[in-house]
Amino acid sequence: MGFYVGLSSNGTLIDEAMSHRIAEIGYDYVGVSLDGIGPVHDEFRRQKGAYDAALNGIRLCRDRGIKVGVRFTMTERNVESLDGLLDLVDREGIDKFYLSHLVYAGRGNRFRGDDAFHVTTREAMDRVFARCWGYVQRGEKKEFVTGNNDADGVYFLMWVQKNYPEHVEHIKEKLEAWGGNASGVNVANIDNLGTVHPDTMWWHYDLGNVKTRPFSEIWPDTSDPIMAGLKASPRRIKGRCGQCRHFAICGGNTRVRAQQLTGDAWEEDPACYLDDTEIGVAADRRVVNAPYTGRHHDAAE
Ligand code: SF4
Repeated sequence: MGFYVGLSSNGTLIDEAMSHRIAEIGYDYVGVSLDGIGPVHDEFRRQKGAYDAALNGIRLCRDRGIKVGVRFTMTERNVESLDGLLDLVDREGIDKFYLSHLVYAGRGNRFRGDDAFHVTTREAMDRVFARCWGYVQRGEKKEFVTGNNDADGVYFLMWVQKNYPEHVEHIKEKLEAWGGNASGVNVANIDNLGTVHPDTMWWHYDLGNVKTRPFSEIWPDTSDPIMAGLKASPRRIKGRCGQCRHFAICGGNTRVRAQQLTGDAWEEDPACYLDDTEIGVAADRRVVNAPYTGRHHDAAE
């Protein structure tokens, strides 16, 4: 039907025969998850040899001409692996690197400037930008994608502002046209039982089942309050997201994270790693008792 079809895999079962089948089916892309290099990955997966098997799967797909990528879900336990994986992608001629942000379990805006999550995330993004820009400058094709944190678009705009201010308006237009988070709008999930969800992170929330109601009826039905909220344009989000000057780029980020961490799907996203100056709101009242370093303000200029 002409759909773009990607396959996400842990890679361990991709042997010679399987890579042949994948090529025959005609997947547009195969993404293999790696949590680190060698033993780090094996320990995450609790399977000795998992890294070697996954890398072998990547190589087999690559050698058959299938577009292939490394998917890295960054956590505070494996952030040290980022550079090693970026090196691997380079060395092995892998087409794409996908960074999925670690799930944030912190307490909102409190100590945002010093919070390990926020600092780690920013540093990781800086490293990914630097690598990506290196390929662009050398005229080499390499794809970089980040996921699970729509504030990335704003952080990228800040990078452009700092390094290529003459392009900032153009990039801003592109990012606004993209529009940030699209769960429940341009992103949908139908699980293995046929139940529909706003995206893969919403498996605890059912919108109906395609075996009893057509998807074409389930999807536009805004009698469901979550769907009504996700499809509102613009979305009505509370807190700092609601006041953020970059809302048109980010869209208020990830609603399921707000719901899981605060109990309210329309609260601000606690995993935003931009500080109040950067998003153009007055210092949050919750940080008044904490010495706020303002260490990232230079990036907002
Ligand atoms: S404050 Fe909210 S809308 Fe603004 S960049 Fe952060 S997550 Fe996105």
